[in-house]
Amino acid sequence: MRTPSDLISKRALGVDASGIRKVFDLAARMKDPINLSIGLPDFDVPDVAKLAAIDAIKAGNNRYTQTQGIAPLRDRLRADLSKEMGRDVGDVLITSGVSGGLLLAMLAVIDPGDEAIFLDPYFVMYTHLLTMAGGKAVTVDSYPDFRFHADRVEKAITPRTKMLILNSPSNPTGVVMSEAEVRDAVDVARRHGLLILSDEIYEPFLYDAVGSGQGTVGSEDKQGQKQASNLFPAPCPLPPAHYLPTPARLYENTLVLRGFSKSHAMTGWRLGYALGPDWVVSQMTKLQQYTFVCAPSPLQLAAVVALDVPMKQYVDAYQTKRDLAYSILSKKFDVEQPGGAFYIFPKAPPGMTASEFVTRAIDHNVLIIPGNVFSARDTHFRISYATTDEKLKQGCEILCSLT
Ligand code: PMP
Repeated sequence: MRTPSDLISKRALGVDASGIRKVFDLAARMKDPINLSIGLPDFDVPDVAKLAAIDAIKAGNNRYTQTQGIAPLRDRLRADLSKEMGRDVGDVLITSGVSGGLLLAMLAVIDPGDEAIFLDPYFVMYTHLLTMAGGKAVTVDSYPDFRFHADRVEKAITPRTKMLILNSPSNPTGVVMSEAEVRDAVDVARRHGLLILSDEIYEPFLYDAVGSGQGTVGSEDKQGQKQASNLFPAPCPLPPAHYLPTPARLYENTLVLRGFSKSHAMTGWRLGYALGPDWVVSQMTKLQQYTFVCAPSPLQLAAVVALDVPMKQYVDAYQTKRDLAYSILSKKFDVEQPGGAFYIFPKAPPGMTASEFVTRAIDHNVLIIPGNVFSARDTHFRISYATTDEKLKQGCEILCSLT
């Protein structure tokens, strides 16, 4: 006779979500905390997109769409992305959030025992999805600068490695890969025949000219002058300083996942998209047919409208928040200046683990996340600066007072 616990799969039991649950349990006890833990924008969906969603529902766009998504959205993204990448990117698959794209990618590529490599600290979902797919997460320590060190990655490759996952701008560190790092990653992937999965969900949130404070970009001549890189021509119409070095421009076996959750504050709308070589995107499309079926139908129509909304003011506001957080925290903490997303990842004060520091912060009404949720190490903590400037300043000052 089976008991209910025998009925649960090893797959489900293999997913351990206790780290983040502990933080939520602690948070539940807090009354009106200064919440610096939330991984979503503090602005709302643009009004025109909300109205377009309502109109789409009223007009009866409430049925399944084609599994790959509606043509107006796919065509628009294909045109925009082809312009950015400097080549035709092929058909785009609309997914149920980037999470949906990640799951489909894992299911399409990973067989039991296959390995995928990514930097530690990492976005937690990667390890759990790999476990679900029967694969193995191989992490490469990127402390203390959180940059891509090709030699370390190269050492982690085995005959079972199939995928190199990049996440730039990164959750939880906010680090943006430089052109040189992207070239190194492509070089490693090409030599070992790996698929690069490039999670670019934070793509619009870029604050620095590529190369300033973000590692080396292009090559330096004998006088130390930076040479412009012709491998990464600045895409139009973005200002040259603020574009994302993506491996998709250099390497055909790159699967890019982007979405609307962060760029347009639509985390609840579940809209993402995938572009990449047909051999993987076509398999993901087939798997989507039998899992998610399609992304939400009326919201796909509203996303076409959202793409015309200028979001620069939000990115500028986040750059100000980044500067505010870094200027306060860097006085007391060992911290790298992040170049994108809305996270900063300082080191806990000497003599205590990050978890101990987070408990102390929670006692002072500031909610942050200990690094061991995203890492094998318990030395750093993640702050999300997606909150009001006032709360951010208050929260950072309290954290400084606890060192
Ligand atoms: N990738 C990264 C790095 C993320 O931080 C997130 C969301 N926190 C996702 C993917 C998933 O985003 P969504 O499914 O909402 O598109």
